[in-house]
Amino acid sequence: METILEQQRRYHEERERLMDVMAKEMLIKKSTVRPKVRRYMEVSGNLRDLYDDKDGLRKEELSAISGPNEFAEFYNRLKQIKEFHRKHPNEICVPMSVEFEELLKARENPSEEAQIVWLALHKLDYITYLSTFDQLFDIPKERKNAEYKRYLEMLLEYLQDYTDRVKPLLDQNELFGKIQNEFEKKWDNGTFPGWPKETSSALTHAGAHLDLSAFSSWEELASLGLDRLKSALLALGLKCGGTLEERAQRLFSTKGKSLEALDSSLFAKNPKTKGSKRDTERNKDLAFLEAQVYEYVEILGEQRHLTHENVQRKQARTGEEREEEEEEQISESESEDEENEIIYNPKNLPLGWDGKPIPYWLYKLHGLNINYNCEICGNYTYRGPKAFQRHFAEWRHAHGMRCLGIPNTAHFANVTQIEDAVSLWAKLKQQKASERWQPDTEEEYEDSSGNVVNKKTYEDLKRQGLL
Ligand SMILES: [Zn+2]
Repeated sequence: METILEQQRRYHEERERLMDVMAKEMLIKKSTVRPKVRRYMEVSGNLRDLYDDKDGLRKEELSAISGPNEFAEFYNRLKQIKEFHRKHPNEICVPMSVEFEELLKARENPSEEAQIVWLALHKLDYITYLSTFDQLFDIPKERKNAEYKRYLEMLLEYLQDYTDRVKPLLDQNELFGKIQNEFEKKWDNGTFPGWPKETSSALTHAGAHLDLSAFSSWEELASLGLDRLKSALLALGLKCGGTLEERAQRLFSTKGKSLEALDSSLFAKNPKTKGSKRDTERNKDLAFLEAQVYEYVEILGEQRHLTHENVQRKQARTGEEREEEEEEQISESESEDEENEIIYNPKNLPLGWDGKPIPYWLYKLHGLNINYNCEICGNYTYRGPKAFQRHFAEWRHAHGMRCLGIPNTAHFANVTQIEDAVSLWAKLKQQKASERWQPDTEEEYEDSSGNVVNKKTYEDLKRQGLL
């Protein structure tokens, strides 16, 4: 439907707008232009192909509109356009100018930029992205490739830049040293989330053995996530690769069977060979990037939580309400440029959204002087009830639960003791089992006069020849 000249015009426009957006972003020291550079290259490539005109369609089109029947051609095309819009009255074309304006606006919103990249990689919606982007240990190692590394670098750059803006007094160099120290220790012990030591002896996986009797379907197993399934498969000496579904199905197929009874194709061919030294170094680099992301995600926990709420609110609002809000924001930001004083913070209070220490009464009100301990998080301490409440959905807790082989669902909110979580899980499993379909009492049969009876009664009647 679209003519070649129009396609070319659109590509030219997109190139110019991309260049414009990138220039604007460089000016305000935003370093997330890479996806746009990539798009620019892609668009340029398409444009060149169209000019090359290998199939001769462009030439054809040009001669059609340059005469001698140019008017007939013109009205013919006009007719086509009119017909298209009559057939598709709801087709709204968003002008490219509007699209790019939105892109520039997105810049103002925390992490939406990184989200665009992530979206391209994973096709998630923003809310899902916001609540799961810190669970990097969930991503299978096979997919942690060069692209993933670029993503991490970009995300980290973004988080650092954002932290710079909301917590300008935080010494990020000092932070880097601290992250590195802690990371080195965890890496050497093999306790860094998502990267267990690759010794792959039965010993290291002994703890990974999963009791399958509690699971009634492979779908339930799948809720444990890729890594947990992998370690459970390794513990049995089985192949451990594949998608989440494949791993869950493979593991579930072993339920109630002895290892000898299993199909030999399920077993791993060779004991997992240790990666080369270069692989190990590459993995360590990736893991260190992840360690930094984890740290920044924690520092920005409050901001992330607010963004989450904000997006949810936005999605619930109508277009009109949204416009009103935007107007309010504009007038707010106009009156904001007054304060620029030196910050006095003798009690070392945490900084608020404005980069200034919060008032002491607010500090007490929010209970930030109270520490909460969580055993599931490896006895990590959280400051204040808010951070504590939030942490149940964050990476450290999610990882702790995964290691226990327990799905991190709402049932386990506020459970911090390993023992409590394990016994609650056992109880839930029991409950599930009793709710499960029980054919002996629940399957319906009909006797000869059409009455509904259960299986047991039916068989009794049949045995007595009463049917
Ligand atoms: Zn926890």
